Amino acid sequence: MFTLEDGRPPADRLIALRHALHREPELGLDLPLTQAKVLAALDGLPLEITIGASLTSVTAVLRGGRSGPAVLLRGDMDALPVTEENDLDYASRLPGRMHACGHDVHTAALVGAARLLAERRADLAGDVVFMFQPGEEGYGGARLMIEEGVLDAAGDRVVAAYAVHVSSAGTPFGVVGTRPGTMMSACAAATVTVTGAGGHGSLPHQATDPVPAMCEMVTALQTMVTRSIDAFDPAVITVGSIHAGSAGNVIPGSGRFEATIRSFSSATQQAIRDGFHRVVRGIADAHRVRADIDYREQYPVTVNDAAETAFALRAATGLVGPERAITMQRPMAASEDFAFVLDRVPGAYLGVGAVPPGIDPHAAAMNHSPGALFDDGSVPICAVLLAELAARRLAEA
Ligand SMILES: [Zn+2]
Repeated sequence: MFTLEDGRPPADRLIALRHALHREPELGLDLPLTQAKVLAALDGLPLEITIGASLTSVTAVLRGGRSGPAVLLRGDMDALPVTEENDLDYASRLPGRMHACGHDVHTAALVGAARLLAERRADLAGDVVFMFQPGEEGYGGARLMIEEGVLDAAGDRVVAAYAVHVSSAGTPFGVVGTRPGTMMSACAAATVTVTGAGGHGSLPHQATDPVPAMCEMVTALQTMVTRSIDAFDPAVITVGSIHAGSAGNVIPGSGRFEATIRSFSSATQQAIRDGFHRVVRGIADAHRVRADIDYREQYPVTVNDAAETAFALRAATGLVGPERAITMQRPMAASEDFAFVLDRVPGAYLGVGAVPPGIDPHAAAMNHSPGALFDDGSVPICAVLLAELAARRLAEA
């Protein structure tokens, strides 16, 4: 199996790739420059490569020298609409775009894993599918790749799937963390348009005022969370945007508010969706206004399979030692579209600390912030970790 030392020889090339990706970030599902860099980096390796039709994905299959099942490794490739504030020689050259969530690290690491596994191809007891995915940041790129067949790219359905995610704060450098069961929250978004009948502010009885109805909806949604959701299986509703009217003495004809909704189990995900509709509709009826609800489920709960998580922690412990491979006590409130993969295939999602040495992890800039920093040393660690997960899982199959 692999050791961290195996990450040394390819590290310079992988870090150079990471820097090239970081300088030229791309957003969403259409990442042509990123895709070209990945294809160039994989060139010459014994891989079966296909590219996406509806998105700029890259799927590569490595056939092992021995027969066995297939496993999947995923790396997301898209950046965020953030203007970088770091003074780095490889800082983003494009204002309004930054690899602020470390997906440049993931992409380079997945190339590294392909390189490491290709070198040991003869010993590999099965196949490995490398999933280079655009559009993680709210675009559902994983779901599109699944629709285009990534889970069956090796022929049969993969038996396990793994992904790693670096963090620029919180977790010390080189620490690998995961947990069985719920790893990350489900995420939904709602836009509510409330329509009444506008009028003069002095004669509300001759109008149908949407404003007090909207105010009641916002507070009643918070009460609904505390009264109908299990305190040990929580949910969050945040109404982050509310707009109505243009003057104090004019009753507006309509108003609008937007919310984000997070939950940690599919049961609560459904309960909060039902509760949201019930509360908004009921208050609208009570005030004789109309409420049009556009409720969009974005990502499901990211659920790690218990056996795969135990396996992944064993593999990580072998690489980084028992003090640096930890079981997280709590899930994370962020959401992740690898959830769509783990919905269909058992697997595990692992966090890797990438805070540069010398910076206090608890004071460091978080993922998604314009000052987020991910240490280059995380690239070979993630590459070896991914390679080890695939090779060891196939050996134990
Ligand atoms: Zn991310």
